[in-house]
Amino acid sequence: DTTIYYDDDADDAQLANKTVAVLGYGSQGHAHAQNLSESGVDVVVGLRESSSSRKAAEADGLRTATPKEAASQADVVSVLVPDTVQPAVYDNIESELDAGDTLQFAHGFNIHYGQIEPPEDVDVTMVAPKSPGHLVRRNYQADEGTPGLLAVYQDASGEAKAEGLAYAKAIGCTRAGVVETSFQEETETDLFGEQAVLCGGVTELIKMGYETLVDAGYSPEMAYFECLNEMKLIVDLLYEGGLGEMWDSVSDTAEYGGLTRGEVVVDDHAREQMEQVLEEVQNGEFAREWILENQAGRPGYRQKRQAEKSHEIEEVGAELRELFAWADAEEEEAKEKERE
Ligand code: NDP
Ligand code: MG
Ligand code: MG
Repeated sequence: DTTIYYDDDADDAQLANKTVAVLGYGSQGHAHAQNLSESGVDVVVGLRESSSSRKAAEADGLRTATPKEAASQADVVSVLVPDTVQPAVYDNIESELDAGDTLQFAHGFNIHYGQIEPPEDVDVTMVAPKSPGHLVRRNYQADEGTPGLLAVYQDASGEAKAEGLAYAKAIGCTRAGVVETSFQEETETDLFGEQAVLCGGVTELIKMGYETLVDAGYSPEMAYFECLNEMKLIVDLLYEGGLGEMWDSVSDTAEYGGLTRGEVVVDDHAREQMEQVLEEVQNGEFAREWILENQAGRPGYRQKRQAEKSHEIEEVGAELRELFAWADAEEEEAKEKERE
């Protein structure tokens, strides 16, 4: 059974008289730090000496320090630097964790795969907004919430969950609803989703559809519109009202064709491959590969990135987006909101 927590389930007193060190002032860091602070929590932002984010944090009225200094002042250390640098940042601050302190995350990778091994006398929690940081901030300012996840990996104090809920409330997540999960479930579903369905699955489907049309002699512009541009319209409908609303909104021909041909393309072979991808997430093979890739200076990652950038659909798309005013207008609007 899924438990969902709202504002009434959280007790502000859990963070009263405590200091939260937010390590990192990027996507999540800037949103957590400012929301916590405006919710009345004492916040210090931990950034390395050379940090380019320091000015931004200070301009936003926040106290800054090095990660180590910030952790030493803090009762709760919220680790919001990129996942790949978290182990090194953690090594630097580990000595500052006192018994009863909390190590708080927004994603479970490093704890779940043993890249960070906290002492037994600290609480280890996760409050993970299911959204990019700029929306966590924007929603908070608009008195709206951002759905989130809460997990407790280690409860040394007996108060880990209660404190996690107070944190979730202070950043605005309990306004929308917070789902209870575990570090394992969050990490494995997150990795699987981004690999098989969202980032990996969707881009391969788009490229394969595009290539199939272009190889058959259709124009790249038509292929771009059909396979990439229209994806947004379909996804918007799915987001608003699930599969049903999407099927109701397209033509009967599209519905019949989709219902009969979709499963021909994404067939049992694709299901077996998905199961394989999930297994490599579960048995740690993907994590090991990615950790080694980082230790080696990311050669394979760079190569894949370059290949993706030089795909013909990127060139065609860039030209078409230039030509059409709607794309510009939307981009401008997004940038405008980003600036707010
Ligand atoms: P970002 O990439 O936005 O973090 C950048 C920040 O980290 C900057 O302030 C940067 O400062 C600092 N930083 C980078 N490297 C170091 C370092 N070696 N030492 C100290 N500080 C460093 O991270 P995200 O906000 O994307 O991710 C943070 C966590 O949130 C991750 O666990 C991620 O999985 C999770 N998460 C992210 C979401 C998102 O939408 N982005 C959604 C939900 C969870 P500097 O100026 O020094 O470079
Ligand atoms: Mg301390
Ligand atoms: Mg993800």
